[in-house]
Amino acid sequence: MDAYAIKKCINPACGLTYEINNDIYRCSCGSLLDIKYNKKPSRDLVETFYQRRNHGGNIYNESGVWRFRDLINFAGIDTENFEECARVLVSLDGSEGRLSKPYNMSKAADYAEMNHDSFLLQPEGYNPSGSFKDNGMSTAVTHAKMLGVKRIICASTGNTSASAAMYAANENMECDVYIPKGEIAPGKLGQAFQFGAQVIQVQGNFDDALAASLKNAKETGGYTVNSVNPFRLEGQKTIVYRVLEHLNWNPPDWIVYPGGALGNTSSCGKCLIELYEWGWIKKIPRMAIVNAEGANTFYELYNGLFEGKRLTWNDGRPDLAMVDRYYEHLDKKGIRPKTHATAIQIGKPANIVKALRALDFTNGIVVQVSDKEMSDGMSIVGLNGFDCEMASGAVPAGVRKLRREGLIKRDDVVVGILTGRQKDPGLAVEYHTNPNNMFAKPPTSH
Ligand SMILES: *Cc1c(COP(=O)(O)O)cnc(C)c1O
Ligand SMILES: [Zn+2]
Repeated sequence: MDAYAIKKCINPACGLTYEINNDIYRCSCGSLLDIKYNKKPSRDLVETFYQRRNHGGNIYNESGVWRFRDLINFAGIDTENFEECARVLVSLDGSEGRLSKPYNMSKAADYAEMNHDSFLLQPEGYNPSGSFKDNGMSTAVTHAKMLGVKRIICASTGNTSASAAMYAANENMECDVYIPKGEIAPGKLGQAFQFGAQVIQVQGNFDDALAASLKNAKETGGYTVNSVNPFRLEGQKTIVYRVLEHLNWNPPDWIVYPGGALGNTSSCGKCLIELYEWGWIKKIPRMAIVNAEGANTFYELYNGLFEGKRLTWNDGRPDLAMVDRYYEHLDKKGIRPKTHATAIQIGKPANIVKALRALDFTNGIVVQVSDKEMSDGMSIVGLNGFDCEMASGAVPAGVRKLRREGLIKRDDVVVGILTGRQKDPGLAVEYHTNPNNMFAKPPTSH
């Protein structure tokens, strides 16, 4: 195989490299790995990406992921030829990333106290399995296919398993999903079953399920598709490409994501670092990450609320001993992540170090919001005719908070990523049944 890309340790003091024809995702030093490309892509590709939108039936141009394939080209596909793409690239009939782009949502802008035309939300829920996870799953499963893998494995708060199971079904692979019993939205659990995955219910939370699935992958040779897999993060970069394309490649002032395992945070950071190094962008948007109050590890560590010292990237030498002490403190005190936004109910974010690098590069910030605030955020998105789940509601809620704290200005250009569709419709019914909620429209009787 021609080496279009390698894997490289993210720890600058180590920097070991690995070939990509294996499923190693962690360096021997313990750090995670990045995908590094051997060629610097030409800025002229901007025109190619635009032209591919007129796809003429080629699903690899229709796909909002593979349309940008030249920037995630670990598979070495340099062609417009459909058959050659189809031999390697995994797509659900061109549907991943196809409908997601930034939209103006005037009511959400009012709620977030932003100008109508400078506040945009990008609904990644309109992916085939209903969340942004499809962006990264199409690339991770492509890599699995390159290796001839028969069985993929993941732990999930619900959307990863839905996406993995969907692609596995379509590619004729087996799929094992480890889920925290009773802690995932019913719509997500239903998808795993419906797409034919083997569901393994874990007594415990997501952090326990991830540990169990990584152990099983190691013991049985299954291929892990969680966001520790660097090929996942490559596909998720296309979320940012679609934002930038919509803005004619003029970066916004802010990009806002909810924070769970921090895969998106890491992916966005890597994406911006690359574009900057390639000279594609001159301005670096600031990233704002929104934690749930009930699962706020990143918020506490990044803002120095534990041991009075901020956890930072520190030129590639973050204080990992402090992270260990924080996790010990959670375990000792019996503090479990607790929020109704189950997609971000994560206490030990696996990508925390890559996320620190992302915030360092973008002068980023981390804010936290309550379940009530996330419900309001979710509901105001609904009133614009878009649905999203509670974890995604963290985005408008977080922007509103940052506006009130004066960190975001009313006319800043802000793009928020709505990570997933509503798969827990009971939450919407509950919200609107209670007249005390900010946007409730309770049912009437007849
Ligand atoms: C997975 C997920 C998240 C968390 O994303 P990370 O990359 O793990 O931080 C947030 N929202 C939704 C809807 C998700 O499915
Ligand atoms: Zn290393």
